[in-house]
Amino acid sequence: MVLAPVSKCVWPGQKTRIEQPPRMKTSFLPKLVNGQKGDPALFVDLLRQKRALLFDCGSLTALAPAEILRVSDVFVSHAHIDHFIGFEHLLRLHLGRGRRVRVYGPPGITRCVQGKLMGYTWNLVKRQRLVFEVREWDGERVSVTEFLCRTRFRRSDSRRLPKSEFLYEDELVSVRGAVLDHRTPSLAFSVAESDFYNIDPVQLDSTGLRPGPWLNELKGWVRKGRAQAKTISIDGQDWDAAPLADKLLIITRGRKLTYVADALGNAENSGKIVELARAVDLLYCEGAFLHEDLARAQETYHLTAQQASELARSAGVKRLVVFHFSPKYEGRFAELNAEAKAAHKKSESVALID
Ligand SMILES: [Zn+2]
Ligand SMILES: [Zn+2]
Repeated sequence: MVLAPVSKCVWPGQKTRIEQPPRMKTSFLPKLVNGQKGDPALFVDLLRQKRALLFDCGSLTALAPAEILRVSDVFVSHAHIDHFIGFEHLLRLHLGRGRRVRVYGPPGITRCVQGKLMGYTWNLVKRQRLVFEVREWDGERVSVTEFLCRTRFRRSDSRRLPKSEFLYEDELVSVRGAVLDHRTPSLAFSVAESDFYNIDPVQLDSTGLRPGPWLNELKGWVRKGRAQAKTISIDGQDWDAAPLADKLLIITRGRKLTYVADALGNAENSGKIVELARAVDLLYCEGAFLHEDLARAQETYHLTAQQASELARSAGVKRLVVFHFSPKYEGRFAELNAEAKAAHKKSESVALID
């Protein structure tokens, strides 16, 4: 294969290699803070960004202070006490650290955060730089309200963001959501890491091109999906980006994780959950009740372990973790996992983690 600049370039039709994400490559390190039966809180360490996302904010005492200090974004499904009581623990640790913490939640979350903040006396905080940026989402639009510590957490005016497919998005990670019915809006979230792009050193060597900043430029155009129309200047000559990428890049698909907390097991919720969790690598889904107690689950707008497993199967997720077990099953928690396993056995594609 002979490499040539733009006008003479002929490529052998080599396809970009797409590999399954090996465990080492993932930037996610998720853990259920309180296991399957305690308050809901899913800590997702973002290894590439040295920060963490938190899905729900139940008791956080099981997390190390250093872990809580890495939390930059808190995604609250709803403000029932078991999902939000840990906020004050997070507030206590972040005081004096001078960072911005974004809090996402359903309609009413701004008032709930404000209520927590107004529960204390703030007369010695003029130099504190901590900011809570609350992003309230109604399924359509996000409204942003800030609470600055140095202003004694006085509530700012709110501003509306333009509509977007994502609640959060940067170069490395994005988060989408869905509004579920729990007799109050309960948000489910799906987080996706962007694909990994690595240069194949053997292929690069075979081209005879000198490594340089153009390699990052190439990755950038591919990441944005704009390589087709671009040329890249290498040592004074222009090259078509697309065939160059085809030749040199090894693409590792990023992982996807979905978090579903309290929700009624009805058709509308199921449709939204399946859409949000379609083919994800890992689904955390509440399964508070055994299916023998379906009536109680429906009465309290919760899912059963069997329903969680059926949703995972319908969505074609690779792995499922059921959690938020009702304390009424103390001593019988293994039955909830067994029920989810029995339901998932009907599918070969879903593995259950417990
Ligand atoms: Zn709830
Ligand atoms: Zn709950």
